[in-house]
Amino acid sequence: RVGVSSAQQQQRRLLNHFISRAPPLPETPPHNGVPDEPLSQPQAKSFTLAVKDNIATTTSSLPTTCGSAFLASHHSPFEATIVTQLRRRGGVLVGKTNLDEFGMGSHSVNSAFGPVAQKAKRSAGGSSGGSAVAVAEGEADVALGTDTGGSVRLPAAYTGTVGYKPSYGMLSRHGVVPYANSLDTVGLLARSVGAVAELVVGAGRLWAEHDPMDPTSLSAAARARCASVREGYQGGLPLPRDESSQSQSPSLGERYTQRHGSSTLARSHEAEKSPEAMVKGVRFGIPLEYNIEELDPCIRDAWAAAAERLRALGARIVPVSLPSTRHALSAYYVIAPAEASSNLAKYDGVRYGSVRADSDEDDSKTTTDAADGGVLYAATRGHGFGEEVKRRILLGSYTLSSEAMDNYFLQAQKVRRLVRRDFDRVFALENPLHEPEAFSLSDLPDTVAMENKFGPTEVDFLLCPTAPTLAPLLENVMAQRSPVDAYMNDVFTVPASLAGLPAISIPMEVAAEKEEGVSAVAGLQLIGQFWDDARLLAVAGAVS
Ligand code: GLN
Repeated sequence: RVGVSSAQQQQRRLLNHFISRAPPLPETPPHNGVPDEPLSQPQAKSFTLAVKDNIATTTSSLPTTCGSAFLASHHSPFEATIVTQLRRRGGVLVGKTNLDEFGMGSHSVNSAFGPVAQKAKRSAGGSSGGSAVAVAEGEADVALGTDTGGSVRLPAAYTGTVGYKPSYGMLSRHGVVPYANSLDTVGLLARSVGAVAELVVGAGRLWAEHDPMDPTSLSAAARARCASVREGYQGGLPLPRDESSQSQSPSLGERYTQRHGSSTLARSHEAEKSPEAMVKGVRFGIPLEYNIEELDPCIRDAWAAAAERLRALGARIVPVSLPSTRHALSAYYVIAPAEASSNLAKYDGVRYGSVRADSDEDDSKTTTDAADGGVLYAATRGHGFGEEVKRRILLGSYTLSSEAMDNYFLQAQKVRRLVRRDFDRVFALENPLHEPEAFSLSDLPDTVAMENKFGPTEVDFLLCPTAPTLAPLLENVMAQRSPVDAYMNDVFTVPASLAGLPAISIPMEVAAEKEEGVSAVAGLQLIGQFWDDARLLAVAGAVS
């Protein structure tokens, strides 16, 4: 029946950041046994890998539950491409991590398996909180998360780890249970930027792989076009080059290149360069609209200090204006639930989901005709989904309904376009996906006048906090009454999601008193232009 089994409940008490654990490591690491084209050689460095439980795995002890009672015993018949890709690069699966049900939440407390806690008693952030804690507490070297509106970056900020969200369409989502398709990305968490960079743009070269199974995965031709926009770029930081490859035996990435053909687009990160060399002359934009009233003063100070440190290293700090920022959060919370309501329609207890409400609530009803089928669906969905998921389905169904569509869904899409245009206007690099839009100053609110005062707004990256506050204590989160309080945590992460841009959260030092003996943690976010992931990771590595 509905819910989580008692064995699962028992496990939940023990392991709240893992939903299931892989059996102890076999003598021969499983990645050597991958039948199709194994890329890992015995000498390839292996690493432990935790996988968010909305990403499909096929190990029999690892169901794919999405943190939902609906899928509590769901075993996927296939493995997500990203999991296969990481196993081929030496990843050894250690378990599936707890999350907000279907990725909906900001504190990882909306799970049928109970809330995620970290030793530090603070919220682990959401929705990839289990992945972040697994990395923070040393149980995995790398963890996979999903980032639709900040779900990798926020947990990274709240656990003192690194969380990277790639450009939309770069990493395959085949096998990732969709939440909001136009926003969903797979992201990586680790304790250092280097570990992420190595897999994505270094030897692992994940950035280069098109997946024909994912219709939103950029084709090889589109990847080449995106990269060529970067090729022509002369200003600021030079593009990372594959220089490290000369000596030694070939790395994993080189063996891969040998096998699949080389490309002039091959890039690797340059983490070995000194921070000064990496950031000298690089222009960091400080979005003025991110200095909101709700910003915790200690976060504001830490942000200013981070900018000052970059300036001391030779970077240029440029105030920029992103006027649509203040509408981005509302637009996100219209678009994401709308797409979610459509995605979740299939969980009806008939075609999908292990939950089915019996008709014992009303024995007179059978489930054979359409009307009674409706009762079955409603009862099943009423039981199977948690409160937050139901709230999103209602919200999404409403904003897509004929009477509300124009005022909500279509308005939100317009805001989304403005958000994208704001970013394109401030980045020195062109967005390879669209032509620069004809743009007139009169389109924008008065804030743009400031921009003229502050000079040109051509920047390489944006620098801002990941979240407006420190990670709150978990007990305070649990006592929160309004879901809107949780939505506020995403105010700085959703703009990059709406625009499909790459972004990373790295730990940021804050001068704040301990709270109940627990020290403060916060994240610093860097956002780059579309497909500028290699430089983003290189710079983040240098400044972290
Ligand atoms: N907190 C946001 C939400 O609940 C983001 C979630 C995510 O990125 N998966 O929608």
